[in-house]
Amino acid sequence: MLVVNAVAPLALLLVAPYNSQLSDSCLSQYYYGTHGQQNVFITDDDVCLSKAAQHLNDGSFVQLTDDVQQLVWLQHQAVDDSIKPASFVDEFNAFFSRLSTPSQVTDDEQIVFNKQHPAKLLHRTESSALISVDSETALTLDLHLPRFWKASPLPTSPVPFIPVPSKAVDRVRDILDGLKFDPTVASIVSNISVPQLRSDVRYLTGEHPSSEIISRHSFSKGVLIAADWLKDNFEAHGASCTLKPFLSGFAPNVICSYEGTENTTETVLISAHYDSRGSFGSVRAPGGDDDGSGTTALLGIARVIARKGLKFRKNVQICAFAGEEQGLYGSRYYAREMYEKGANLTLMVQADMLGYHAADEPAQLGLPDIIGTPEVAQLVANLSAIYSPELKVGITPACCSDHQSFHQVGFPATQVFERAGPIADPMYHNSGDLSDREGYDFEQIKSIAKVQFATLLHVAGFDLPSKED
Ligand SMILES: [Zn+2]
Repeated sequence: MLVVNAVAPLALLLVAPYNSQLSDSCLSQYYYGTHGQQNVFITDDDVCLSKAAQHLNDGSFVQLTDDVQQLVWLQHQAVDDSIKPASFVDEFNAFFSRLSTPSQVTDDEQIVFNKQHPAKLLHRTESSALISVDSETALTLDLHLPRFWKASPLPTSPVPFIPVPSKAVDRVRDILDGLKFDPTVASIVSNISVPQLRSDVRYLTGEHPSSEIISRHSFSKGVLIAADWLKDNFEAHGASCTLKPFLSGFAPNVICSYEGTENTTETVLISAHYDSRGSFGSVRAPGGDDDGSGTTALLGIARVIARKGLKFRKNVQICAFAGEEQGLYGSRYYAREMYEKGANLTLMVQADMLGYHAADEPAQLGLPDIIGTPEVAQLVANLSAIYSPELKVGITPACCSDHQSFHQVGFPATQVFERAGPIADPMYHNSGDLSDREGYDFEQIKSIAKVQFATLLHVAGFDLPSKED
């Protein structure tokens, strides 16, 4: 049990391990989102805190002062020991010291680090930190964060705590219960073309001679080329797409849809993020695995939809998000918009990093351990056993991609990932994240894309054109 010992706090910030059963707690009205795998609350309601503390096993408090700026959660990613830097704690300390000591900021960093408002460290564990920085700095932290650290900005006011409604979970359970092998689905998904996946990802990484893309960082020139290219290609394959801006300076989300043949609002969504991150100080951010692989998988699926003349019964959306690397910005805006519109989203599956496995490991599929809807993960696991039995399926602690944005507003969601374990790609968040390298496996991308596609076909329902047409 957690002991509250603060005396009449101005405002108190509470960090507690992720718990999806919050709805009954008074704390839910002071919810500032789930960051890393921690729930964050800010409140000065000590009555509620004392009450809530009885139900919390663990957690820590931070006293907030008046000079708090934009709060940003920083999390060290779950990475395999084979690539984990021994110095990751020191690297963070050095980074933070530069961020908080204006005299240490180099000329290069001046544009990023605001000298007038030094950063403050509010909470720290070995693999996470909560800092306060000015809002400009918050948006560009990813350019200067040491490797494997990810940023996630806190909202500036409480957000509703919205668990996935039991009715929505039941609907997924019904699909799970009725699931059986469909030879037509097997034949459709096998049409995803590996040479085409290779060609598409090489355009996105800039490896293709016709591509001018050097980076797909959310604020780069290349990411805008990628956005237009994705829109054109999805539209050439029968989808209706819009480039949806969400925040000034960021590349837009690419939102594509296929209207269902049934008169229904039910919608199934598959997604990836098309922005990328490179090495510190490098202008190159090819993002071949992260997340060129997931983005290319979406395109591979769209190409088959067009070639087969597929019509979905329910509505379908294919989304390529931007701003993921700055803290899931693009998907947060879009998921929130869908929530506010009362969208009837049956489920969503995000593909983030599908391409890498170590040379001595089999092809794999990892599903998230904590953030996401277990029933959706189970559905995806069962579909993998049916349509991609070559994949070894397991759980990954690698956390969190755009599915979190949807899960956080009560939509059933999960992620597909390249490994049943932590991140092991040595080129993760590195300017060497190209597709032409050891360990990058197009067959694994195809196998996982087949699973994402099969999920779409089973959940949305579909018809093929009749032979006479
Ligand atoms: Zn990613």
